[in-house]
Amino acid sequence: MFIEIEDLKPEPLHFHHIYPIGEIKFSHEDAALSAPVAIDFVLSHKDRNLHVDGTVETALHCKCSRCTKDFSRLIKTGFDLSYLPQPKWSSGDAEIELKYEDMEVAFYDGVALDIDLMALEQIELSIPMKFVCREDCKGLCYKCGADLNDGACLCKNEETDSRLSVLLEFKKKIDK
Ligand SMILES: [Zn+2]
Ligand SMILES: [Zn+2]
Repeated sequence: MFIEIEDLKPEPLHFHHIYPIGEIKFSHEDAALSAPVAIDFVLSHKDRNLHVDGTVETALHCKCSRCTKDFSRLIKTGFDLSYLPQPKWSSGDAEIELKYEDMEVAFYDGVALDIDLMALEQIELSIPMKFVCREDCKGLCYKCGADLNDGACLCKNEETDSRLSVLLEFKKKIDK
């Protein structure tokens, strides 16, 4: 879906759209979209310089990187971006880069704004490097593969026992 800059009126445009599942081509090793993607924004513009302020909402079905269990997570991300026509690269390149360094700026072709791409980029920016089902997920035992969230496995007991016996040995020495 595109917004043609030619068609824009002088006053800000309020845009709202819900993409059915499958329309936004999000692909990730450990996650998939599990809900429609709702995008909502206000677009204002000065000539072909655009300003977009809005939100993207959806849900992800993901796999925990520690315990490998599947879980769902709601995504709601806000964005506030300037879109400028892609500069024509010339001798003034460095100047252009410096000028936009501190701003949240993206470039577009100056003709039409790709809303699907914008929604996809916002989802990608909002997700973490690794998915964890909950902050304190204990993960799987590296020896037997048991889910440590369900309680300690036997390997863990052995470790605890051996540590305990070291302590007991130590205590014996002190007591002498
Ligand atoms: Zn987990
Ligand atoms: Zn174990």
